[in-house]
Amino acid sequence: MDTSALFKLSYGLYVTGVKTEKGLGGCIVDAVGQVAAGDNPLVTLACMKKNYTNECIKKTGEYTLSVLPANVDPFVIGNFGFQSGRNVEKWVNVPHTIKDGLPFLNNACAYLRFRVVNSLEFATHTMFISEVTDAENGGAGSGENPAKPLIYGDYQATMRAAVSEAFQKFKESGKPPQDRDADAAAGTKWFCPLCGYVYDGDIPFEQLPDTWKCPRCGVGKEAFTAV
Ligand code: FE
Repeated sequence: MDTSALFKLSYGLYVTGVKTEKGLGGCIVDAVGQVAAGDNPLVTLACMKKNYTNECIKKTGEYTLSVLPANVDPFVIGNFGFQSGRNVEKWVNVPHTIKDGLPFLNNACAYLRFRVVNSLEFATHTMFISEVTDAENGGAGSGENPAKPLIYGDYQATMRAAVSEAFQKFKESGKPPQDRDADAAAGTKWFCPLCGYVYDGDIPFEQLPDTWKCPRCGVGKEAFTAV
């Protein structure tokens, strides 16, 4: 049996959000399906029993799903998939919003909130059957060019290496990508390409007035180059 054939079933990749004993938790999930539509939609989520998220959903009866967009930062998948919420706080590493006590990703296609109405236990998974208590299109799923949801098969075919690489960079630096970008921006030096003067004033270079000139050769601010 070639279980990769299952990747051809079209479903997405999602991040759950739950309340934990200490704060917030969540993990990457793919086995999500809508099993009833209309006025009272129902959604199933099969969550591994060994995952801390499973425990938290059982305790609280509530969780959110953030629908990942096709252009998701691979780090998001590594952050929620490659470490356990028993040991680390995952949500601090990603831009997120907390609504009525539960977190969701800012740059998701959509945000959904659930209340568990029933569950089934299997050997390795619990299947939670839930009603939808809140739903919104997220930052990536609204506007003029909404991002398409990430398809699980596409993740398997094209993204796995990027996810591993992004998570490795996080482990090495101890910082998520947006913090590394901020560090890089803070460390940027501006120099005058004409005379080589390097700006080292207290005011950030970006905040200097447009009329500011190179104190050594008098060339305009716009000529300066970042390194
Ligand atoms: Fe100059």
